[in-house]
This record gives sequence, structure tokens and C-alpha cells, in this order.
Amino acid sequence: MPQTIHIIGAGLAGLAAAVALSKRGSQVAVHEATGFAGGRCRSYHDVALGMMIDNGNHLLLSGNRAALAFLRDVGAEQRLISPPAAAFDFIDLTSGERWTLQLNEGRVPWWLFDSAKRVPGTRARDYLKCKRVGDVIACTGPLYARLVEPLLLAALNIAPPEGSAKLAGAVIRETLAAGGAACKPLIARDGLSTTLIEPALALMARHGSDLRLGHQLHAMRFSDSRVTALEFGTDNIALEADDAVILAVPPYAATALVPNLEAPTEFRAIVNAHFRIEPPAGQPPILGVLNGTTEWIFAFPGRLSVTISAGDRLIDTPRENLARTIWDEVKAATGLSAELPPWQIVRERRATFAATPAQDARRPGPGTRWRNLVLAGDWTNTGLPATIEGAIQSGDRAAALVAQS
Ligand SMILES: Cc1cc2nc3c(=O)[nH]c(=O)nc-3n(C[C@H](O)[C@H](O)[C@H](O)COP(=O)(O)OP(=O)(O)OC[C@H]3O[C@@H](n4cnc5c(N)ncnc54)[C@H](O)[C@@H]3O)c2cc1C
Repeated sequence: MPQTIHIIGAGLAGLAAAVALSKRGSQVAVHEATGFAGGRCRSYHDVALGMMIDNGNHLLLSGNRAALAFLRDVGAEQRLISPPAAAFDFIDLTSGERWTLQLNEGRVPWWLFDSAKRVPGTRARDYLKCKRVGDVIACTGPLYARLVEPLLLAALNIAPPEGSAKLAGAVIRETLAAGGAACKPLIARDGLSTTLIEPALALMARHGSDLRLGHQLHAMRFSDSRVTALEFGTDNIALEADDAVILAVPPYAATALVPNLEAPTEFRAIVNAHFRIEPPAGQPPILGVLNGTTEWIFAFPGRLSVTISAGDRLIDTPRENLARTIWDEVKAATGLSAELPPWQIVRERRATFAATPAQDARRPGPGTRWRNLVLAGDWTNTGLPATIEGAIQSGDRAAALVAQS
């Protein structure tokens, strides 16, 4: 019997593994608990707005190499839009000042990575380990407020001073330190599912891979050395000697399935507000906002959508109050004058694991003590914060490990 690789979870980590393994001719079965693929990165039809929206605005950068390779593999690279240069527009709501950050020309704080400024003989990785951003840089001043804070807040999804300096360093190395060519913002203008998810499912279907939606893994049976069976409640699958499992579920689901697994236990929210209104002419695809509740305004055809990272403080705010506060800021930032248009607030409470040094230290690698069980997911130890890039890298890594075994 040919080897079957069972992938649990059809988020981007599971799909990246499925795409890689399908392409090399493996027999792949993806089991997804919900009725849709994409996990935390997907589109859905929103009844209040009467249109398709994403569960949250997602930004990729041109330096996200694994994500771009995945898009090339599934034939969807052209579906991302990007301004011609690595430029970010900003507005300060307090002063009304507007500016464009041109990353090729801007001065960037490379102190963390400048060997002359570190303890001799240490590498950036050693220096940053176990430290918080607030322990290694001054979280004050205009450079921090206008560049470092918005970048790190968006990338780490945590107030930067308490975030892991090691993860912040990884973000800076892969983006700002790599120059403007790595910092072009890339946006899925036609939606996350159309851009990232449906093309992956189409590739899997072309290779005969199996996608089983509404198929939640309830338990695994283990021998000393391997997983022997998958239990889905209504049906069980006994694994053949050569079969393998890639577990690509969130950490709270993984720890319920794998004995004694250490994984992140704390999370941070992301809040998105969507408004059904045509963006004004000339509105940039993404606008950074300082000194408001709003952090980023994304412009899509027929819709403006706002992202607020580390949004835990807003979880209990009444939805209508939040929509009105954010809309007032959007009006100030865009020049629109309309009364509150149709809106939707989406609060993802466990959007990402909390990117603190302590939580980062709890992230496991892909291997387990069972030879046919490999872990994937943005929360595994990728060296990156919980991002599309990290999820896809973890899926690629899991696929490579299974392929080697
Ligand atoms: C609102 C929001 C905004 C974001 N913005 C950005 C951004 O701008 N840029 C960026 O790079 N990243 C962003 N992210 C992070 C990014 O979405 C995630 O890092 C990525 O989608 C995680 O993919 P994953 O496959 O690791 O996990 P998930 O997407 O969580 O996938 C896990 C899958 O496993 C399934 N599952 C769980 N338990 C079981 C079970 N027992 N059996 C079967 N299936 C199961 C789940 O239903 C899910 O489909 C954002 C996230 C959110 C929520």
C-alpha cells in the first residue's frame, strides 16, 4: 500500500505541506474540522455588509520568500497587488501631518545588528535571546513612534516593548535590513481565499489529493514509536506502517491531541473594522495611522477596512461604539464625510500567540518522539512571529521532514 500522509488542519501551514507533498506525487489527505479551508486566513460572505470580506486584513511583504514561492507554486503570484516602490503612507491624527516613508532612502535603526555595537563575540541571535524589545532599544522618540513601533506592532501583534527581541530582530532582518526590495507591501485585493486558498485547493485537486471538510480529529492512538490510528469521532483511520501525520492545528488543539506537548498558552487579539463605502480617489492601498485607535486603513474596491493589532483592550467595547470611534478616525484620515456606512467588527481573540520571550521559548520544533508525527503551524519554532510567512515555512519544513523519512 502506498504511503498516505494525513495532514490535520487546512490553514496555511497544512496547505503549504499539502501543496509541497502533492507536487512530489505523495498521496495526501487533508482533514479540516470546519466547513472551510484557510483557518485564520480566509474570506467569507458577510451578511451585514452584503459582500465578501476577509476575516482580517493581511499584509505580506516582498521579502516573504516562502509565501511568494507558495503563491508561485499554486499559480497565484499575480493576484497580489503592490505599489511600485517600498513606500508606506502615514497620517498622524493628532497633528494632521501626512508623510510617505520611502524605505530605500530612510534611515533605519540597525544598532541591533551592528557588530561594532554589540558585546564582542556575540551574534545578534545570542544578544536578543530572552530579551524584550524594551530591554534592548529605547521605545521613545520619533524614529520609534513613526517606524519601529508600527512595524513591530503589526508584525508581532503585541505592544513592542514587551515583545520578544529575537522575533523582532528576525522581522527586521527579513524586511528593513534586506532593503526596499524586501519591503514592498503586497495585498490580496481580491480576497485571501481567492488569492491564497482556492489556488492551493485547485492544485491539490489536480494531483488527486483528498480534502475532507468537517472532519475534526478527536484523538490519536500511539505505540511507543509511532501514531497508529486517527480518531475522528464517527470514523477512525488505522495507519499503515509507512503512513505519516502532519499536525497543523493551533497550539491549544495540538496540546489536547499530543501527550506532554509544550506550546504557547497566551494569545493576542486582532480587531478589524470593515465599512462598505467606495474609497476616495487617490486613497493608498494601505495607510498607517498614528495616535488613534485605528492603526492601518486598507482600501479595497467598495470597502475600507481597518486593522488594530494587540486589540485585547477592545474585546469588551460595545461593537457600535467601536465602529463609530473608528469611523470618525477613518473620516479624518481619508477626508470622507459620510455618516457611518454599513459596518462590521471582527474580533479574533486568539489571532496569534503572544510574541513574548517566555511564550516564544515554549514553541516546539517540528519533530516529535513518534517517528511518523510532525508538527506544523505558525506557533511552532520557526524563528518568526505568527505570520503567513511563518505558517508556510512551517508547512514546507514539515513536508520536507516527512518526505525524508
Ligand atoms: C485577524 C488576523 C490578521 C492577521 N494579519 C496578518 C498579516 O497581516 N500578515 C501575516 O503574515 N499574518 C497575519 N495573521 C496571521 C496569519 O493569519 C496566521 O499566522 C496563519 O494564517 C496561521 O496559519 P496556520 O495554518 O498556522 O493556523 P490556522 O490558520 O489556525 O489553521 C489551523 C487549522 O486547523 C484546523 N483545526 C483545528 N483543530 C482541528 C482538529 N482537531 N482537526 C482538524 N482540523 C483542526 C482549524 O480549523 C484551522 O483551519 C493574521 C491573523 C489574523 C487572525
